[in-house]
Amino acid sequence: MAKDDVLECSFCGRKKPETDLLIAGLDAHICDRCIEQAHGIVMEEIAENKTSSLSSELILKKPREIKEFIDQYMIGQDEGKRVMAVAVYNHYKRLLQPVSKDEDDIDIEKSNIIIVGETGTGKTLIARTIARMLNVPFCIVDATVLTEAGYVGEDVETILTRLLQAADYDVAKAEKGIVFIDEIDKIARKGDNPSITRDVSGEGVQQALLKLLEGSVVNVPPKGGRKHPDQKFIEVNTKNILFIAGGAFSGIDKVIGKRLNRQAVGYSASIKIDKVDESNLLKYIIPKDLKEFGLIPEIIGRLPVLTHMDPLDADTLRAILTEPKNSIIKQYQKLFKMDGIEFSINEKALLYIVDKAVEYKLGARGLRSLCEAILTDAMFELPGTDETQLSIDKKYAENKINKSTIKKLKAVS
Ligand code: ADP
Repeated sequence: MAKDDVLECSFCGRKKPETDLLIAGLDAHICDRCIEQAHGIVMEEIAENKTSSLSSELILKKPREIKEFIDQYMIGQDEGKRVMAVAVYNHYKRLLQPVSKDEDDIDIEKSNIIIVGETGTGKTLIARTIARMLNVPFCIVDATVLTEAGYVGEDVETILTRLLQAADYDVAKAEKGIVFIDEIDKIARKGDNPSITRDVSGEGVQQALLKLLEGSVVNVPPKGGRKHPDQKFIEVNTKNILFIAGGAFSGIDKVIGKRLNRQAVGYSASIKIDKVDESNLLKYIIPKDLKEFGLIPEIIGRLPVLTHMDPLDADTLRAILTEPKNSIIKQYQKLFKMDGIEFSINEKALLYIVDKAVEYKLGARGLRSLCEAILTDAMFELPGTDETQLSIDKKYAENKINKSTIKKLKAVS
């Protein structure tokens, strides 16, 4: 008998001829099937550890560290970052508290967040960055597509379908995720007097959102998850899901201004604001202003952390172009580098882009459209040529912008 015939897998005992492959170690052998099985176990173990490591990672991040992390991706907005860092820290601290209540019987409540700020000032970015830091599932939903049950549109439960999809249908993971509800201001009741001009569907959606925000078990339609092909509903508990709502609340500055004026003249002027910064009234926002705008008090109560994003000035826009870890210019540099082209842009050209973004009121979102307008020709023409350099100056940028239609750019805002 050949020596090889007696060799066997030390794990399952299969003889060498019964295997496709038998690998020798120091004192043992392992067959292809056992390798595959072992690999499966390792992968499962890693996946499980990832979920449970959520706890250990979270304990380590203090609010200061959370802010430092956001700083890498986001310019300015210090106040918003601090408030968000504390809220997120408290949320996950609450989530990590042992199931049995402490002797003191204190139950930490959910701290969902609402961010008020003009479009393109970083509301989505901050929510996304926090989710990235925590490595938790994250989804963005647009409040405007939501309707009350029974109406044409999406039921609020579909918010959780998105989150499940982001968590690859891992329910436990989804239950610790973050949902960003964009354009929450669009479901506000219109006008101050609810009985005259109230937008019924808007208020209905707010009502429907309540149970999601406060924490309850919701039946979620899975919509084609691989693991649940025939299942009609998946139960998701929203108790530990962090909801971050964002909205521009356009016109709310007038509500704030009016209130500040009243406070200034009234006897009950308890909060003394020495010098009101007229250019950024949002920083004085309080929950009452949201109510005045048309959010129902119950919704405001379930979004207890209120913060704002400052409008972006030219200096901030300039910094956004190059400073964040993932800045627009760095992204173009990477794209060109993949074609062997070294891309550079000088300071004057950058300032020109900022000027245009300010002029067209495009905010940070417009920076990208402007860069696209300037660089599309080069991105089309250069790949596949011998060119190894692309240097953009103000004149080049001006030429390309003048060629593109301003109207087209404005439509992006
Ligand atoms: P919003 O949700 O407030 O409308 P976004 O978060 O979607 O705005 O921001 C729009 C774009 O501008 C994104 O590409 C984002 O990266 C960029 N941006 C906005 N604010 C900042 C900021 N403070 N720092 C860095 N980038 C920003």
